[in-house]
Amino acid sequence: MLRELYQEVIIDHGRHPRNFGVLPNANHHKEGFNPLCGDKIHLYVQEENGVVKKIQFEGCGCAISMASASLMSEVLCGKTLTEINTIFNDFHLLVTEGNPSKNLGKLAVLGGVREFPARVKCATLAWHTLNAALQDTSGPVSTEEDE
Ligand code: ZN
Repeated sequence: MLRELYQEVIIDHGRHPRNFGVLPNANHHKEGFNPLCGDKIHLYVQEENGVVKKIQFEGCGCAISMASASLMSEVLCGKTLTEINTIFNDFHLLVTEGNPSKNLGKLAVLGGVREFPARVKCATLAWHTLNAALQDTSGPVSTEEDE
């Protein structure tokens, strides 16, 4: 089971996150916390006319949270807000019910977390933070609110 959870792609992205660092020309940003695990991220988004041009993040946390943010930043780059909404919903289904969708591409490697309910929040932290960033809500995001 653990081997399934910590696939090579997750370990790689967890250790060497892509798009890591401050994005100077971001027009959305948001902090997110997962108190259950101690994961913290600060997400930066550059969006123009409904298209996400670039996502970067900083933070620290477990391999799952870092890998999820890293994979998300790669997969969502260049996508419209409508496409992102669909991918977000598909991703949520994947990590809660294990429904892999073709839209998800390499995000499918995170499907193993559904066997570990405590880790689902690690995997979804970046996504909830992105949603909040795009909606420009006030205050930081916590995985322990609204559930
Ligand atoms: Zn975590």
